[in-house]
Amino acid sequence: MARKFKAEVSELLDLMIHSLYTDREIFLRELVSNAADALDKVRFLGLTHEDLTAGSGDVDGIRVTVDAEAGTITVEDDGVGLTEAEAVANLGTIAHSGSKKFLQALKEGESSAPELIGQFGVGFYSAFMVADEVSVESLSALPGEEPVIWRSKGKGTYDVKKGTRTTRGTTITLHLREDSTEFADEWRLKGIVKRYSDFLPWPVAVAGEQANTAKAIWQEIPTNVKEEEANAFYKTLSNDWQDPAHRIHLKVDSPLQYAAMLFIPSAPPHDLFLQHVDRGPRLYAKRVMIMEHAGELLPDWLRFVRGVVDSEDVKLNVSREMLQKTPVVRKIREALIKRVLKDLGRLARREPEEGEEDVYAAIWKNFGVLLKEGAYHEHGETREKLTELLRFNALSHEDEDGQISLAAYKEAMPEGQDTIWYLTAESRDSALASPLLESFRKKGYDVLLLTNPVDEWLVGAVTEYGELPLKSVSRGELDMDDEAIEDGADLTGLGPWMKDLFDGAVHDVRASGRLTDSACVLVDSEDGISGNMERILREAQQAAPAAERVLELNAGHPLVKNLAQLHADGKTSVAEPLARLLLDDALLLEGTVRDPAAIGRRLQALLEQASASAINA
Ligand code: ADP
Ligand code: MG
Repeated sequence: MARKFKAEVSELLDLMIHSLYTDREIFLRELVSNAADALDKVRFLGLTHEDLTAGSGDVDGIRVTVDAEAGTITVEDDGVGLTEAEAVANLGTIAHSGSKKFLQALKEGESSAPELIGQFGVGFYSAFMVADEVSVESLSALPGEEPVIWRSKGKGTYDVKKGTRTTRGTTITLHLREDSTEFADEWRLKGIVKRYSDFLPWPVAVAGEQANTAKAIWQEIPTNVKEEEANAFYKTLSNDWQDPAHRIHLKVDSPLQYAAMLFIPSAPPHDLFLQHVDRGPRLYAKRVMIMEHAGELLPDWLRFVRGVVDSEDVKLNVSREMLQKTPVVRKIREALIKRVLKDLGRLARREPEEGEEDVYAAIWKNFGVLLKEGAYHEHGETREKLTELLRFNALSHEDEDGQISLAAYKEAMPEGQDTIWYLTAESRDSALASPLLESFRKKGYDVLLLTNPVDEWLVGAVTEYGELPLKSVSRGELDMDDEAIEDGADLTGLGPWMKDLFDGAVHDVRASGRLTDSACVLVDSEDGISGNMERILREAQQAAPAAERVLELNAGHPLVKNLAQLHADGKTSVAEPLARLLLDDALLLEGTVRDPAAIGRRLQALLEQASASAINA
């Protein structure tokens, strides 16, 4: 009976069949990696099941054979196999959330299919890049299951029927397309296995001969591991096609026994910010893989770190729930965090030589947001170390690529400055337009410009550095003026009157100690959330308490002086529209206007008056 593929599979297969990919050879990497997964799974299953269906015994690891005459390649394993239901579910649909993104990325054409296939978990279908018919003969290792044959020409439909296999495992047979007969060659296949699957912990035999090294590279003595080997291992592990930016190799004998090889990718993985994605390094117990992603081994903010952890002290049959409660796991986790932070610290302190790539700058660009997340979540020593790793764009930079550490900021402070100043805003441009920076510019103080939403949380947690407080240029009363304003307006009457006029829209109206040129600015009061935080929460559609904003007036500004005069003379009907527009102006300057139509109306009324008085004058 012919069954239809899910629409997205058909679309995917179409792309596989009709595109001329130069790296079609990766089909073998994908099939071999699936066979290795199946072997890992059955080894693990064997720990809890005594009655698993036996394997053929003559497949030691994974066996690739080729029949040049018939134009077929087979990939065979004694792994966990597939039941009929599993064949339908796993080979007829794309179970992974990444599939839509895969198609999208492929269509956008930024990366080619071979680069994307493994990353998105659509590896099996890559067989159709070289085959016009694929058959999967399988028997599940679970006792009492029936053998199954799955077969498809890749054109919209597939068949599933009863098979005859009597030993557990899977044999995948590819009938090579006419344009792909080059792969019916054992030397070619050996080369491909060596290239992509060298460090798979299972031997892969091609035409009866082991073609890969098949060693657990993480168990080697760290100094013996060559960089190319480690990078090749990283690629098989992560499905990334680029070398990692950094590698950590740990072999610890006491008090716990474990080995870990961790990698920091050189580009962010596509699913870094997706929810409900399994994270964490692969966990092995005495070289048996027991979990593909052990999220317990690294905190969420280190979710960009890939790798393996192999422990002699973790029980093979440990469940996820148990894992969380295992002291061994907690200790390994702490040690891994320490080591990652130590390495990041070293990279961050290192001045790259002329022409050399700045590794830390790249890591920060890709994963800095997560390190900020860490600084916000963690406490004590870990937060301190993370704080040293933070980088910010600042007023002193020419563009938004500029980055400064808190240490460098502190070092560059002029005499008399005793605070690390920052401004949170929607973008660098809106920050630069803010009147809040006027007096800082004048004094020559640098100001960190924080434009990522996570920054609001960060500065709520990291409130000091090197015994200096971190403060917002927008918060509370501030006296930046050295020279007292002479003949400034007296705001004792105007301030309270304006506050009443705005009827709760602002918390207070007062004289400003931070403006040099502008007439007014909105600032945050000493407590409560900032205006920027309110904006972020609102944009994220989260309930936000209203920020308490204070309108500050520049008592030396002619407009403010005139307003104070009008108010003192009792000409409040003239002063009122002007005062309202002053608040509008402050909102416009920080880009948080919520009722532009009202401002438009007020502006028109005022222009009408102004034009009329121009005619009368
Ligand atoms: P992924 O490997 O990322 O899960 P694939 O497209 O490569 O995605 O494989 C899809 C699914 O097909 C696998 O998850 C697995 O359930 C099943 N499968 C493929 N090959 C085998 C095999 N040799 N033995 C058992 N199951 C397999
Ligand atoms: Mg796969």
